Amino acid sequence: MTHDDSGHEARAVRHGPFPVQFRRLTVLRTERVTPRVQRVVLGGEELEGFHSAAPDDHVKVVFPTAQGLHLPVRGPSGLEFPPDITPPPMRDYTPRRFDADRGELTIDFMLHDAGPATAWAQSARPGDVLGIGGPRGSLVVADAFDWYLLLGDETAMPAIGRRLEELPAHARAIALIEVEDEREHQAFVSRADIAVRYLHRRGAAPGSTTLLDDALAALVWPDGEGFVFIGGEAGTMRRLREQVIEARHHPRAWMKASGYWKPGVSNHHD
Ligand SMILES: Cc1cc2nc3c(=O)[nH]c(=O)nc-3n(C[C@H](O)[C@H](O)[C@H](O)COP(=O)(O)OP(=O)(O)OC[C@H]3O[C@@H](n4cnc5c(N)ncnc54)[C@H](O)[C@@H]3O)c2cc1C
Repeated sequence: MTHDDSGHEARAVRHGPFPVQFRRLTVLRTERVTPRVQRVVLGGEELEGFHSAAPDDHVKVVFPTAQGLHLPVRGPSGLEFPPDITPPPMRDYTPRRFDADRGELTIDFMLHDAGPATAWAQSARPGDVLGIGGPRGSLVVADAFDWYLLLGDETAMPAIGRRLEELPAHARAIALIEVEDEREHQAFVSRADIAVRYLHRRGAAPGSTTLLDDALAALVWPDGEGFVFIGGEAGTMRRLREQVIEARHHPRAWMKASGYWKPGVSNHHD
């Protein structure tokens, strides 16, 4: 077993970076899972060879514009489009489920007030085209931890749901998820011993509450060694990460925290 610099066993191992392959996919079907979550199932020949090693992987989604769907190529200064093409909007999304046998990739879009991704997802129909690139890399977390603590809002629900569904039977997981209200609950099927607790905003603006901070502070921390995942609004994520490290003295190596969006900012990622 390898160790990281802090002396903790390296049970969260980075895979990649891999060369990013962009793929042109087609919408096979859509489903409104909850009032605010639009599920889009994608397929097509170019899905061949797609691989996603970790539940919180992300792909770069490329949206069609009035000029059609144009995928970037990697040039000397990053991703490039032909000179006559206005670069299309691109956003990060989680591969919620990938079924290689059926050739289906599922992405869950949380619908919010405005933005090209939300607008596209809201009106997506079978036959529509969409581009994806990646995943570029994965943080593969061992299933040897005594427990997993998963914290986030609706945008992290695909990563949290996939983790819960992929955990082995001996694992234990606690998920604290902030959503608008009970209509946004999703049921997760898992072999593991899971406890999912939803926290309701009830009209407060997303990213404006301390519901997750308070629930985390009140949580009875399980015994043994655990892995913590945090995803969602950037400010909340930072506070939660600080609480986990400062107040709970949890090893940084056994945690992953990502800011998935930021109020007033398009296409935020940290
Ligand atoms: C690694 C990663 C994985 C992600 N996975 C998913 C996923 O699987 N599903 C998912 O739904 N999202 C996911 N997100 C978040 C998603 O990429 C952002 O919410 C994105 O900004 C949405 O794009 P947009 O075009 O709809 O809005 P943008 O054009 O980016 O933003 C327009 C406005 O909407 C605001 N905004 C953006 N997101 C939200 C939100 N969730 N709630 C309220 N206001 C918002 C912005 O602050 C801005 O003011 C992920 C993000 C990252 C970094």
